[in-house]
Amino acid sequence: MTKPISETIEPIEVAIIGAGPAGLMAAEVLCAAGYKPVLFDAMPTPARKFLMAGKSGLNLTHSEPMPAFSERYGERSSEITAALKHFSPKDVRTWADKLGAHTFVGSSGRVFPKSFKGSPLLRAWLKRISASGGTLRPRHKWVGWNADGRHKFVTPHGEALISATATVFALGGTSWPKLGSDGCWQPHFRDQGIEIIPFRPANCGFECDWSTHFKGRFAGEPMKGAVLSFGQQRLKGDFVISEYGVEGSAIYSLSAPLRDAIEASGKAVLRLDLSPDRSEKQLMKSLSKPRGKRSVATHLKRTVNISGAKAGLLRELLTPSDFADPARLASAIKSLPLTLSRTRPITEAISTAGGIAFHSLNRDLMVKTLPGTFVAGEMLDWEAPTGGYLLTACFAQGKQAATGAIRFLKDQTK
Ligand SMILES: Cc1cc2nc3c(=O)[nH]c(=O)nc-3n(C[C@H](O)[C@H](O)[C@H](O)COP(=O)(O)OP(=O)(O)OC[C@H]3O[C@@H](n4cnc5c(N)ncnc54)[C@H](O)[C@@H]3O)c2cc1C
Repeated sequence: MTKPISETIEPIEVAIIGAGPAGLMAAEVLCAAGYKPVLFDAMPTPARKFLMAGKSGLNLTHSEPMPAFSERYGERSSEITAALKHFSPKDVRTWADKLGAHTFVGSSGRVFPKSFKGSPLLRAWLKRISASGGTLRPRHKWVGWNADGRHKFVTPHGEALISATATVFALGGTSWPKLGSDGCWQPHFRDQGIEIIPFRPANCGFECDWSTHFKGRFAGEPMKGAVLSFGQQRLKGDFVISEYGVEGSAIYSLSAPLRDAIEASGKAVLRLDLSPDRSEKQLMKSLSKPRGKRSVATHLKRTVNISGAKAGLLRELLTPSDFADPARLASAIKSLPLTLSRTRPITEAISTAGGIAFHSLNRDLMVKTLPGTFVAGEMLDWEAPTGGYLLTACFAQGKQAATGAIRFLKDQTK
């Protein structure tokens, strides 16, 4: 039970609600301009998702040239490009270097801090924000506005009311809610007439209806070096067979169109080339060699070097008569149809699509109908693949929103 609302209605010049990458960047920019922002976060410590991202190698940004980088944001490319003008992928690297997290470009063009971790960078970042006038108030869960437009928070000491001249919201999407971004802010924004496009999983795993035998034998097995095709997209990469279906980097890269296809027609058929280095003709010739007394598995391994999970997948998806026909088997190896029936739950996704619609915002990311209220990061309606594009856009929008807040605050004093 929370105690009644405290009587102290504290006025603050600029509040930042949500201390993830977007909120912290907004704080840094406001501090650099001489403001003393107060950061509120529901969790006991800030930026938990950022720290979680660092557990598997913190991919801060990508080194590819700008036009290609911008295209990663698909339909929101122009909105995110506007943010990237405030803080570009190059700026991300300079910024991290200055915080002592020297970066390097990996073989795929992705940019990481040399330690791969988020914690040293976050520690240095928080220290800098605090030294330049920012204050963090953890365990402050924002629960909406009161009738006077003041912010209502639930804290361990009861509820608190805070009025702020300008506010930057950076409350995140709805994946991994245990790290703080649980999407509970949505009804409060909807009540203000702000359109929110429903959140959907992005960079997520998918479910397939595996047989008990297949998942018992191959769940957890990697599928290396297959070529995955869906629609016009084709990529070579690795993924993992899981208990429920498939996940991993190559699957995440195609997850937006796969998810959209499932939404539209109830399923998505992904095509796998399990032997990208051989043509169908070469495969057929090899597979046509007499099998003799060898098992099908040994024949596959000896003739076309397919074994383990790849061979298991062929057995799972093909009929015995397909295996008896070298032409059909070769064709299946080159283009094996894998039906995906559902996305995994949003709570497991790396990121989310959906959020506050851009048409509700001006070029400073200020809510048009709520002067002084700015929004940034994954709570807005954009999505991107993994590769550092998510964090870069969050940093950039944090800076864009803070720059807008500074302009707004200056206008108030004119
Ligand atoms: C496992 C994993 C790995 C990832 N790896 C990468 C990677 O390598 N590279 C990359 O670019 N991206 C990666 N991401 C995605 C990236 O971490 C997110 O896109 C990014 O953290 C979003 O930043 P944000 O500031 O918008 O929101 P968040 O980081 O979600 O922060 C939102 C903050 O708001 C707070 N909050 C929410 N609601 C309230 C409320 N009502 N009141 C007060 N506070 C509230 C939360 O506690 C949280 O601190 C990864 C994500 C996951 C889950």
